[in-house]
Amino acid sequence: MTLTGEQMWENEKQRIHSVGEGILRLEPEIIDELTTCKRDFGFTIRLVRDNGKVEHLSGWRVWHRNPYNTGQRPYKGGFMRAPSVGRDLLRAKAALMTFKCAIVGPTEDERVPFGGAKGGIRCNPGDYSPGEARRQMEQVAEELTDIVGPTKDSLGPDVAIGAEEIRAFVTRYSAINQNKGFPCGAVATGKPLENAGGGCPGRLFATGRGLHYTLRGISRLYFGLGLPKQPRAIVQGCGNVGRAYIALAKEFGVDVIGVSDISGAVYNPRGINVRELLVHLQKNGGLVNGFNGAEAISGEELLTNECDILVPAATENVITPANANLLRCRVLLEGANAPTLPEADPILKEKGIMVIPDILANAGGVTVSYFEWCQDTQGKFWSEEQTNKELEQYMTGGAQRVVEAATRFKVDLRTAAYIVALSYCAPAFRKKHGWKKSEGSLV
Ligand code: NAD
Repeated sequence: MTLTGEQMWENEKQRIHSVGEGILRLEPEIIDELTTCKRDFGFTIRLVRDNGKVEHLSGWRVWHRNPYNTGQRPYKGGFMRAPSVGRDLLRAKAALMTFKCAIVGPTEDERVPFGGAKGGIRCNPGDYSPGEARRQMEQVAEELTDIVGPTKDSLGPDVAIGAEEIRAFVTRYSAINQNKGFPCGAVATGKPLENAGGGCPGRLFATGRGLHYTLRGISRLYFGLGLPKQPRAIVQGCGNVGRAYIALAKEFGVDVIGVSDISGAVYNPRGINVRELLVHLQKNGGLVNGFNGAEAISGEELLTNECDILVPAATENVITPANANLLRCRVLLEGANAPTLPEADPILKEKGIMVIPDILANAGGVTVSYFEWCQDTQGKFWSEEQTNKELEQYMTGGAQRVVEAATRFKVDLRTAAYIVALSYCAPAFRKKHGWKKSEGSLV
């Protein structure tokens, strides 16, 4: 079962209504603001394929909402290459970005100060060579040059976009804008370290590391989580997010027992030798198939094998009402955006599986993107140690806030995460637009 982008955006709006109106009793103008997008910009890129043929691909960049004034604080969000890319999918994902930024932060007053955005081009990334992927992003820079910029809208890595594609984008954007008298590096984050605009040490692993920090933060607050000392994890997806989670598992005392990606799945209940798996991925074009340190099984079977932590870190809509009943994990740690269908949530709750929602769990990526943006705009660069230390504070702060809201309102962690996000956005919108707080509103 998979949802269309339109259904995903409808679901997102429903969630905003149910928490915003139903729980926090926010004013209609705030609900209106959050259930519409400020901008969605469509474009077409012209790609010259390796064989000389010309192809046109559709792309979009969507801005959800910005609790701050653009010009000081940009919109921020990933750029993806996937067949599912379309206006509504990006609207849903851009809203998630607004909420992530409003949740994590070390103190009540400090959050990630960006509005939410998302973009992408519709294509099957597997059909394109690395050179073609880079040329796609150069064309994207040409098309988006007037709407993006370090203080307007800053892109980041996402599905099928890594450091090299980001480099191509920044290089072309900088070439177009070099005479305008501002440094261009902060137009995107997730740049390679040696990039002229300044990449951030730690960005590559930030989302995966953030997942570990979030779970650690929650385990300390929820004594009833019931995870063993050395929990066993199954990870779906082996790209930017999944690979980083796996690579850091040992550091966080987690045994990886299963991994899957688009090429297949491997499972070893005694534990996978992560170092060997990473070498295999390196040699095998990033794909897990053919890894001989574990048994090859199907991706769907892997999801339902027994483990302590299940980490969907691949794509949306993979935990469905059909498979939720079969899951045998204690914790579902959402590395991907929107991996769980709304109809699956009550089933997971019934089974006693704790869901750590995407808008909290995977916010490490945008957090370190914020650090990279700060460094690029200030010209002052941090060490990896400092990056990781700050990331831990942001993620732990977010986890604590969400657990507190869950306790206060007696709700699950996903609802609590929306309560935290909307409680931060609502006063910011009132301040930005000069709106008065209604008497009934709780925040
Ligand atoms: P990626 O393209 O680097 O990796 C995706 C991985 O998922 C690949 O290994 C691919 O083979 C695998 N995959 C795709 N479809 C699959 C399927 N049906 N079954 C099993 N595996 C499948 O993407 P990414 O950047 O790692 O992003 C993954 C998810 O995390 C997305 O939902 C993205 O929006 C979200 N996310 C990414 C970041 C980031 O920093 N990159 C931050 C927050 C959230």
